[in-house]
Amino acid sequence: MSVAGLCEICERPDVDHTCDRCGRLVCDRHWDRERGLCVECASEVGGPGDRVDPENLPDGVDTYRF
Ligand SMILES: [Zn+2]
Ligand SMILES: [Zn+2]
Repeated sequence: MSVAGLCEICERPDVDHTCDRCGRLVCDRHWDRERGLCVECASEVGGPGDRVDPENLPDGVDTYRF
């Protein structure tokens, strides 16, 4: 099951993932594996919540509100 193509964000040839939301092919750098989305969708969907690992949160950052 190889995916042929370029990362649609940086155009590197080593794509490994397909975004569940927009269907873009993205490389590892542009893949948010926690959400199963490309980084662009991940930042749009974003928000606090569900799958944020508390250890990855920088100090002093409060909850975002939309
Ligand atoms: Zn990329
Ligand atoms: Zn996407």
